[in-house]
Amino acid sequence: MAERAEGATMAERVEGAAMAERADGGLGASRLDMDSEAFRHWGREVIDRVAAYLERPESWRVLPDVRPGEFAAALPATAPAEGEPFERILADYDRLVPRATTHWNHPGFMAYFAVSATGAGILAETLSAALNVNAMLWRTGPAATELEQVTAGWVLGLLGLPEAWDGTINDTASTSTLYALAAAREAWPELEIRERGLAGRSDVPRLRIYCSEEAHSSVDKAAVALGLGLEGVTRVSTDDELRMDPAALERAIAGDRKAGVMPMAVVATVGTTSTTSVDPVAAIGEICRREGIWLHVDTAYAGPAAVLPEMRWILDGCELADSLVVNPHKWMFVPIDCSLLYTSKPEVLERAFSIVPAYLTTSEGQGVKNLMDQGISLGRRFRALKLWFVLRAFGASGIASVLREQMRLARLFADWVDREAGFERLAAVPFSVVNFRHRPPGLTDGEVDAWNAALLERVNASGEVFLSHTRIRGRFALHLAIGNIRTEEKHVRRAWQLVKTFAAAD
Ligand SMILES: *Cc1c(COP(=O)(O)O)cnc(C)c1O
Repeated sequence: MAERAEGATMAERVEGAAMAERADGGLGASRLDMDSEAFRHWGREVIDRVAAYLERPESWRVLPDVRPGEFAAALPATAPAEGEPFERILADYDRLVPRATTHWNHPGFMAYFAVSATGAGILAETLSAALNVNAMLWRTGPAATELEQVTAGWVLGLLGLPEAWDGTINDTASTSTLYALAAAREAWPELEIRERGLAGRSDVPRLRIYCSEEAHSSVDKAAVALGLGLEGVTRVSTDDELRMDPAALERAIAGDRKAGVMPMAVVATVGTTSTTSVDPVAAIGEICRREGIWLHVDTAYAGPAAVLPEMRWILDGCELADSLVVNPHKWMFVPIDCSLLYTSKPEVLERAFSIVPAYLTTSEGQGVKNLMDQGISLGRRFRALKLWFVLRAFGASGIASVLREQMRLARLFADWVDREAGFERLAAVPFSVVNFRHRPPGLTDGEVDAWNAALLERVNASGEVFLSHTRIRGRFALHLAIGNIRTEEKHVRRAWQLVKTFAAAD
């Protein structure tokens, strides 16, 4: 018998293993992957679950009722020695995962920047997982490489940005900003930073990045990673509406030059993370032009609003930018992750990152773009597929109508806050985010902060809505962000009702 098995042909062994799999309840115990019959069966099961979930995400608590460590404690300490039937894996998913998940698809999710997983995007992710393309080189993913360029171009057109810009897709805005600032650092090849680094050199001045005091922490992280250090970031002051003050920027640059510091880049933000304020990019861009400084625009969240003609102004001046980041996974209904980095100087970005080992040279040569040259990661997912699907499924008019409605809902909420005695709004509402607080009479500033922090806890403990918080000029603010495609007026109304109810309770 042993002889017979050893002598079996490959085909016989494969078939035998498949049979064993069947006898074993179908799936998993074999060394082989799931066969197509099983895949169809479980595929339908999974799609049915997704459909049911998206039909009623509010059947879950938006914030799960779990303690740290509770989820992990329900799992074995080691990986299984033998394969398990898929049925059992899926049953454990059902039993454990959704109830320990924060439901970003819940219409009551109004924290941070709410996002949306949409049907076209979810299905595209499935196809992309199946193709399993690693688009490091054009050759290893021609469609992935070219679709990335095509969809990046489409988004430029939708937002009214310069058509000649070059776009690539990264995982997140933090990565895109890191890459943009690495390119800014590479804009002076004569400093030879790429070759000789920064440490231990007396022939390179200290480099400086400028952004507003409201800019995202990803700018600081990039400064850390690029060897500038946190002291390499100057936080420029803002005006009453929390927008970077261009005069203060000019003063900072002039002072630094006098002190022998080299201004490297300015990061302007269109839609800051706390309050969605919009820096005056045109004025900042003029300064950058005059001073020869790289301008990076961070519009990770708000950028898609420029699809609306009445919101085009938000990107005024961005034509002066050397780079810009916008996240289709934030306010363009593409499932996370998908961040577009644009640059008008692709050759500089490529100089910052292109290192081609012998085994990755290809005969296509200079004629093609190899995505591995656009950043740190060699391997790249086929992210453009979901962007393509979503852009086509919604069209410009679909995106515009959802964004317009979400901005209406935010203004409606802001209006309720403005009319209610004892409440106050802490920032303007240019997009779909409202910052506000409850201010009972007779409390000190510190007590008002603590009261609102407690109010937030109570509202979130309801499991019906999830709001977050921020600090605006030092004051604790409740932060409500409308961005989930399933959020309707009734959900916003419910959020307001909960806030008022818990504010009235003692
Ligand atoms: C969300 C956000 C970021 C960070 O985005 P990630 O993609 O999570 O890294 C950066 N800047 C702004 C303005 C943002 O809104």
